[in-house]
Amino acid sequence: MIGFIDPHIHMVSRTTDDYQRMAYAGCAAISEPAFWAGFDRGTAAGFHDYFRQLTRYEPKRAAQFHIRHYSWLCINAKEAENVSLSREVIALIPEFLKEPTVLGIGEIGLNKNTRNEATVFQEHLDLAAKTDELILIHTPHLEDKYKGTRMIVDMLKGDSRVKPHRVCVDHVEEHTVRLALDNGFWCGMTLYPTTKCTPARACDIIEMVGTDRIMANSAGDWGKSDPLAVPELIQEMRRRGHPEATIRKVVYENPLNFWRQANNWVEWT
Ligand SMILES: [Zn+2]
Repeated sequence: MIGFIDPHIHMVSRTTDDYQRMAYAGCAAISEPAFWAGFDRGTAAGFHDYFRQLTRYEPKRAAQFHIRHYSWLCINAKEAENVSLSREVIALIPEFLKEPTVLGIGEIGLNKNTRNEATVFQEHLDLAAKTDELILIHTPHLEDKYKGTRMIVDMLKGDSRVKPHRVCVDHVEEHTVRLALDNGFWCGMTLYPTTKCTPARACDIIEMVGTDRIMANSAGDWGKSDPLAVPELIQEMRRRGHPEATIRKVVYENPLNFWRQANNWVEWT
């Protein structure tokens, strides 16, 4: 069995049974970006509790199944329309960056591509630059994806403090994958049952762009999604005759090599 890493899944929305099934399927580790909780939180204190959950409690729940749990911190783009709340939340982050399982700032990005979202995105970039953290980027879905990804890549490229090899642009599809890779970023493909990419499309993309700096995730969350989406990609790649070493690079070594650059990284024993 090929072990796998799911580098983007919101386990606070998932059951303990999901951890168990992921462990049975060979999941070695996951990373959980801070995101929307299905509703807009009213206070910075709500985010403080969420960050405690991500950094101190969820790793213990995962450890029961021998899955390593890492996290990323931010206020997501869906809630970033409220700039003053966003600033209060960003001020809370440095305290948590010291937690051993925190990989960096994320998932930051744009949702409806508004001015307030862009302001809050920039302020996250300021924090990441000051603390030299890795960055995980959420790109918008569906019809605004190309425009939003273009805006984000332009903001990243326009900021001389941003080191592309320390940034992962997530939720790429056929029409945005080159924007990420050709500019030196890592990228993530999201395998989703309803929107985003199917395992077959993800496999097509790998066949188009190769296996450097590319990874796949389930982005499992409170909505309809599948924590076993990465194993489904493994099956699809096998069915098409890709060698095991190629599959392992995409579903295990690439995310691990991206994470290894994190400031708090401790090598697995
Ligand atoms: Zn997400």
